[in-house]
Amino acid sequence: MNKPSPLKIGITGGIGSGKSTVCKIFEILGIPVYYADDRAKWLMANDPDLKASIQSEFGIESYSETGELNRQYLAEKVFSNSEAVSKINALVHPCVGRDFESWVKQQSTPYVLKEAALIFESGGEKKLDGVINVSSPLKIRVARVLLRDPHRSEEQINHIIDQQMPDEEKNALANYVIKNSENKMLIPQVLAIHQELFEKSNS
Ligand code: ATP
Repeated sequence: MNKPSPLKIGITGGIGSGKSTVCKIFEILGIPVYYADDRAKWLMANDPDLKASIQSEFGIESYSETGELNRQYLAEKVFSNSEAVSKINALVHPCVGRDFESWVKQQSTPYVLKEAALIFESGGEKKLDGVINVSSPLKIRVARVLLRDPHRSEEQINHIIDQQMPDEEKNALANYVIKNSENKMLIPQVLAIHQELFEKSNS
């Protein structure tokens, strides 16, 4: 008999909301997490088909002679060029989608998590069984990122925030919301969702 496929749950949230921190708690509970943004970077550097299509779209200079991704060259190509951003997304997203599906097949837990900064922005929720949004007040997020990433200025962080869907909209679209403010404990919120997803996977 085929084993049932795990429920696929997205976990998203704006920069500095605490997605990775929340994912670490789920991992302690034994839930596998697919870090989509990290994996996308890995695939761009290592997947032969993706590398070939990036080179044919953006030029041979996209990779060095020894095959390493030329991040600076590509960043310059897509900087303030929404058409180029759409083109690169159209190459990378399907590749990450396929990689995620084959990763899911190797898992045997009742549910798995797919962590990504942008899910609703690209309609990614349609391929998932639910989405958790990690929600945190703007001021706290900026302060946390300034502390975590000393190389970033407040202006740069606000620029990223401006490009992301506002938190209230994401909360309205999400199936589950985890509030990561200073006066709300994270672990009980994670445990409640964990329990709910276990029950959902059995129903
Ligand atoms: P990004 O989108 O930039 O990857 P993220 O949403 O994954 O960010 P984290 O890296 O989990 O966010 O959190 C941002 C910073 O805030 C980290 O340094 C983390 O340790 C810290 N942090 C997150 N949640 C809390 C909390 N509840 N209390 C204290 N520090 C926290």
